Amino acid sequence: MFFYWYNVFGDIMENKSIDLDSNIQYLKGVGPKMAELLKKINIYTIRDLIEYYPRAYEDRTKLYTISELIVGENALFIADVVKPVQVLRKAKLTILSTYVADDTGVCKLTWFNQKYIKEKLKLGDRYIFFGKVINDNGKKAIETPTIYNLSELEKVQGIYPIYPLTAGITQNYLFKLVNSVYDNKPLVKEFFDDDFRKKYSLAEINFAMRNIHFPKTFNDVNNARRRLIFDELFMLQLALMTIKDSNLGKKKTTKFSNVDITPFLELLPFKLTNAQSRVIDEIKKDMYSSRIMNRLVQGDVGSGKTIVAAIAIYIAVKNGYQAALMAPTTILANQHFNELSKYFSKLGITCDIITSSTTKKSKGIIIEKLKNNEIDVIIGTHSLIEDDIEFNNLGLVITDEQHRFGVKQRMKLGDKGSSVETLVMTATPIPRTLSIILYGDLDLSVIDEMPPDRKPVKTYVVNDNLEARVNEFIRKQVKEGRQAYIVCPLVEDNEALELKSVEMLYEKYKNEIFKELNVEFLHGKMKNKEKDEIMRRFKNNEVNILISTTVIEVGISVSNATIMVIENADRFGLAALHQLRGRVGRGSHESFCILKSNNRSLQARQRLKIMETSNSGFDIAQKDLELRGPGDFFGIRQSGLPEFKLANLLTDVNVLKETQDAVKDILKEDRNLSKHIPLKKELFDKYGEQLTKRTT
Ligand code: ADP
Ligand code: MG
Repeated sequence: MFFYWYNVFGDIMENKSIDLDSNIQYLKGVGPKMAELLKKINIYTIRDLIEYYPRAYEDRTKLYTISELIVGENALFIADVVKPVQVLRKAKLTILSTYVADDTGVCKLTWFNQKYIKEKLKLGDRYIFFGKVINDNGKKAIETPTIYNLSELEKVQGIYPIYPLTAGITQNYLFKLVNSVYDNKPLVKEFFDDDFRKKYSLAEINFAMRNIHFPKTFNDVNNARRRLIFDELFMLQLALMTIKDSNLGKKKTTKFSNVDITPFLELLPFKLTNAQSRVIDEIKKDMYSSRIMNRLVQGDVGSGKTIVAAIAIYIAVKNGYQAALMAPTTILANQHFNELSKYFSKLGITCDIITSSTTKKSKGIIIEKLKNNEIDVIIGTHSLIEDDIEFNNLGLVITDEQHRFGVKQRMKLGDKGSSVETLVMTATPIPRTLSIILYGDLDLSVIDEMPPDRKPVKTYVVNDNLEARVNEFIRKQVKEGRQAYIVCPLVEDNEALELKSVEMLYEKYKNEIFKELNVEFLHGKMKNKEKDEIMRRFKNNEVNILISTTVIEVGISVSNATIMVIENADRFGLAALHQLRGRVGRGSHESFCILKSNNRSLQARQRLKIMETSNSGFDIAQKDLELRGPGDFFGIRQSGLPEFKLANLLTDVNVLKETQDAVKDILKEDRNLSKHIPLKKELFDKYGEQLTKRTT
């Protein structure tokens, strides 16, 4: 493995010309204080700075006359100073003002505390001014206009970038800073050859990098954008395909022979769906082949992915290998452990679990057993990828709810064996185009069928007026033996507030509304032991109503629970709502999802309406994507989706398709990129960390 990557990157590692990755603090005009502020907008290096793209542009190509000035708009104009600069002091403020005029009219200019203006502006001289026109008692005026000398006209006239700002950083500061980096010398070596650029209509890279900031025309802006968007998508595709290629190139040292899975199937209380059987066949084909498996299993919430994973594990273990199953939360890891060990224990397969709540002592024992091949199957959370976990002969790794992990974490688990079959599972209902981006290095299997007895979850959007009726409905269902979840409003990134909100809700429901019922609450910050205990009691129907944060969002499966109530549902992304709703409707009882929201905005109502009308994760994802754009949909934090600076996955799908072809074109002829050294360097600069991680 290491040698592969050494060969790919070895020849370019010493050859860096300009260090775009150097600390921004040492750029002239920055220093420690400004560096702190720049960090707030994620600018740490020079590369970050030049990739800090304008959010819009201001047209300063036109020269106005004073009579043409429009209140409320920015304008560039030439005028003579017709009054001496007046200086007025008001408390701590020094106000400087003057009048300027051209053949068409007069305009008042004012500055605050900029005392040098008095020296700078000479009565009778002509200057260029730029600023926003305001109405000053019926007359045109400008506050703090920028002043330029006449000789600067050519430089000043043009299209100006408008950057997103933060307190303490001005447009002008950023403009000058970015400008100072572009001292006319090309910053990077072009990494596409001329023919390639022609084929895909791509501007030269240095042209694009400069013109995204300092264009002369809007056509330049468009050309620059196209090139940079292409690059973003292309590099990601290239990285993923290179990873895929390295996986394909890995020698398979494991050997799997045909296993009869009937003994396992006989333990199941149900028959596999056709889709499950098909996906299992695809997995078998991979495992029995001479190629290492790298497969994504996508299936909507409740489609039965766990059993598919279990059968893959069964095949691996029957072939004498160890298997690992990683889940994103302790609750889910426990659920998998309880469910699977039930089956495995009957088949003579040893199974154990490691999470953050495993004591040091038992962890030590498990680690020893894993090394000695005394454990066949290990289930766990992120704890599984810690360095001290070693295997005797790991043959299969499975990541459940892959969208909760990054690409790196999924790889790290696989790197614990020499040639490991990899299966990743996700319910994230993303459109095909996007799954290519997230999982471009994987083969895809889809479970596109639900178990037969499922009834669609009935979904209702309600406001406060219906609260009493909703509560009565819950009570009625509980009387019939069913259970309910009530999910707290989302409190973004604030655990203290979240805890408060779940406790308040708990008080309300337990002490006021459902006094006679067993109500419990669950929160991410609780001790794992407590969480497990509550989940165990909920599973045994000892708890009627579970108040919870979104810790139950992924994977949890309690088939007797039939009601999902979500408070302030409008705060959640539709993908999250769909996942939460997927906690009910997992058995044969009719299930209900009640989305509470008092948000009257059209967009909020439209979005929740989608939940009422659709039960398909894929449709919901597509519609949500159209309404809100991909950033919002995923909630970047949990998507594992790379953040793009310019590219928009919704509007740039066509460019994405082009880049896929382009990458294939290049790799077909030059698999190691040895004829594309500058491109290889760029790939290394952008994704090297992720790619080189594979070597360690
Ligand atoms: P998910 O795909 O969301 O991970 P699970 O694997 O948790 O779904 O399965 C959801 C529920 O459906 C579980 O209770 C499971 O036992 C059940 N199940 C899985 N496959 C079938 C099947 N073929 N027929 C009936 N029930 C099934
Ligand atoms: Mg699952």
